Amino acid sequence: MNVLNKKTIEDIDVAGKRVLVRCDFNVPLKNGVITSDERIVATLPTIEYLIGKGAKIILCAHFGRPAGTGYEEAFSLAPVAKYLAGLLNKGVKMATDIVGESAKKLASELKDGDVMLLENVRFDKRETKNDPEFSKQLASLAEIYVDDAFGSAHRAHSSTAGVADFLPAVCGYLIQKEIKYIGGALENPKRPFVAILGGAKVSDKIGVINNLIDKVDTLIIGGGMAYTFFAAKGYGTGTSLCETDKITLAKEMMAKAEAKGVALLLPIDNKVGKEYAADTEVKIVNSDEIPADWMGLDIGPKSQALFADAIKGSGTVIWNGPMGVSEWDNFASGTIAVAKAVADSGAVSIIGGGDSVAAVQKLGFADKMSHISTGGGASLEFMEGIELPGIAALNDK
Ligand code: AMP
Repeated sequence: MNVLNKKTIEDIDVAGKRVLVRCDFNVPLKNGVITSDERIVATLPTIEYLIGKGAKIILCAHFGRPAGTGYEEAFSLAPVAKYLAGLLNKGVKMATDIVGESAKKLASELKDGDVMLLENVRFDKRETKNDPEFSKQLASLAEIYVDDAFGSAHRAHSSTAGVADFLPAVCGYLIQKEIKYIGGALENPKRPFVAILGGAKVSDKIGVINNLIDKVDTLIIGGGMAYTFFAAKGYGTGTSLCETDKITLAKEMMAKAEAKGVALLLPIDNKVGKEYAADTEVKIVNSDEIPADWMGLDIGPKSQALFADAIKGSGTVIWNGPMGVSEWDNFASGTIAVAKAVADSGAVSIIGGGDSVAAVQKLGFADKMSHISTGGGASLEFMEGIELPGIAALNDK
């Protein structure tokens, strides 16, 4: 599959057509109030484009994990319809079901440029089973399918993949951008291509490490993950995070990098703490000198300089995962240094993962990055080289 060759909403005539748009509206909700509207705002370019072209727009999405046995108020998308109506400054009709009488009636009454939202697709358990009959029923509401839910693209469900068997299927602007940047970096990166991986566990990112070693010129590993690599090098890791069952794998990855001529950079020094606490006693130690009763909680200043130097001349940077326990100010310096280096690099920069994205946003660097990925699990699987069902299902140009 060539992900860069997928049709987009601009490749299809949507005027006057009923268009089913899969969105990612899985927003944080507290007592009926949406606490972050990022995901809703992210779908606006696609929805506004369709309104402008005079399409009849039928939005659908999942929200949380309902039982799948019908309507549950706590998982209703009604608050999203209301919120979206405010953003669009126009009415958004809310169906009381997904493929039932309410949805069918509202869909048939849509005028050009009108917008409606179906109820939570997961109210029907056939959704997550990718049931062909349910996919067909969803498809029968519309004439064109647009997928804009990158955060769900790694799931083969009816509304993210199955429905594409029954309708012309194209991507919206959000998925188009994810494909352009992540797909573009993996297929045809501007070199040197540098990947920076951090976060807690090697086990979460082993697939990404393995795939990226085949693609990058430099692989930087920081965060809790680094200590398993230290163990693989024979260093003591004190009380740091260390996955003993992944040490052999770490050795294999280091050997693979060497065989491929990829520079694998690990921290050379670390900020270690006495215990896992925000205000614990700290000191800086070299990587092969971590005392037995101390734990590595951030990279040290020499590592920051080493990593920043590698990032400086890069053409493409992919970064996922913090360099330390960046939620605590005392252990955020490494992550901040990397964020600064990426922002200043001038490279095509792609940021993923909650903590790295949070660091970039907190520092006000979001505008300096080429792309901030909207899907955690989906962007990791994309970087692992796994085919995403939500993208594979779309028509080729
Ligand atoms: P991930 O979700 O895999 O990107 O991991 C993010 C988490 O990794 C954050 O909650 C960090 O606190 C944690 N983390 C990063 N470095 C370390 C470290 N050296 N020791 C313990 N946890 C870490």
